[in-house]
Amino acid sequence: MKKIDTLILGAGYAGVPIAFRLQRRSIPYLIVNKRPYQSLIALLPELTTGAIKDDEGILWLRDILAHIMVAEVREIDPEHNTVSVENQDGLERIEYRTLTICLGWVADTFLPARGVKIVEDLPSALAVRKLLYEKPRRVVVCGGGFVGVETAGQLAELSGHMGYEVILLEAASDILAGLPEKIRAHARKVLEEKGVNIVCNSHLTEIREKEVLLDTGQRINGDIILWALGVKANPIVAQAGFSTDSKGRGLVDTYLRSVDFENVFFAGDCAGTKQPMLGQIAVQQGKYLGEYLPRLAKGEEIPVPDFKYKGLTVSIGEDDAIAAIGGKVSFSGLLAVVLKKIIGKKYFLDITL
Ligand SMILES: Cc1cc2nc3c(=O)[nH]c(=O)nc-3n(C[C@H](O)[C@H](O)[C@H](O)COP(=O)(O)OP(=O)(O)OC[C@H]3O[C@@H](n4cnc5c(N)ncnc54)[C@H](O)[C@@H]3O)c2cc1C
Repeated sequence: MKKIDTLILGAGYAGVPIAFRLQRRSIPYLIVNKRPYQSLIALLPELTTGAIKDDEGILWLRDILAHIMVAEVREIDPEHNTVSVENQDGLERIEYRTLTICLGWVADTFLPARGVKIVEDLPSALAVRKLLYEKPRRVVVCGGGFVGVETAGQLAELSGHMGYEVILLEAASDILAGLPEKIRAHARKVLEEKGVNIVCNSHLTEIREKEVLLDTGQRINGDIILWALGVKANPIVAQAGFSTDSKGRGLVDTYLRSVDFENVFFAGDCAGTKQPMLGQIAVQQGKYLGEYLPRLAKGEEIPVPDFKYKGLTVSIGEDDAIAAIGGKVSFSGLLAVVLKKIIGKKYFLDITL
């Protein structure tokens, strides 16, 4: 059995900054990820339609990290400090001294959903792109939050060339719940101008092959049906027996330490803090643990973290976007497009700074 001092599971927005910081200070670590690259989740809508090149939507881990294991995590046994992983060579067990779990999110499929497409990484984005080129007549996006809006916006750009209809279904009375009315109205207008048919107050009860059922009895058919109805933490966390919140995130103390095991930490979408499940929070937590994990593991005193939600930028197709910053400022148009692009680029700086 391999023995590792500091084991990190998942090389995403949280795991990569942790590993990078440990590596910079020559602290031994191993990071396990199911692919040799990080899929940049925030770029999945663009990747799905081919608005960006495939390579722009990923980060090759070997370009910045030295100690990577490409394998799928199957089981965590915190009682015995072991993790089971699987790759083409078969199953392997790794013993750790300190474990950080950053295995991200899965779609929260809370209703029967057969045949729905879930875009979660580069391969699933490419699979949906292939379907888009098979001349669908209608694409249905389920969920009008920021993921659904970005997805519908990108699909609308491509539908100009491909000729399919885009329907965006939202259960509430408006899309983008929680954002200021001014920018929600802008998003609605731009999406509709781009040809997206927004149907609010549509409560989904079931998704079947090529069909969505609403509580009114109405059926909406679609050749491609996409999931944007919400996410929860990777179920491996709950399966391992950790105490979890309603989103399946591992409960932690102020320092992201598991409330159950003092040598286990959570970061990103797997960390049960009060923070929203967002990349910007995952990066902040990753940077914090990367800096302080060795001292935390030794029980030394370290600064109390202050993870902050800074706001959201949402693209609406290629040439428009909305932004809500710090709960006070909101704007739309070119400035928001530029800000969104800067934030995307800043991720690479964020890892290394
Ligand atoms: C379409 C979409 C758009 C988004 N846009 C934004 C945005 O604009 N701004 C923002 O702040 N947030 C955005 N988010 C949210 C953001 O992407 C997540 O909060 C963020 O990815 C969480 O980071 P993480 O490190 O916890 O997980 P991830 O970045 O998902 O990383 C988890 C890693 O674990 C790996 N993994 C998973 N299971 C296993 C396994 N069993 N074995 C091995 N490896 C495994 C995955 O391959 C992945 O590399 C978006 C989310 C979606 C779905």
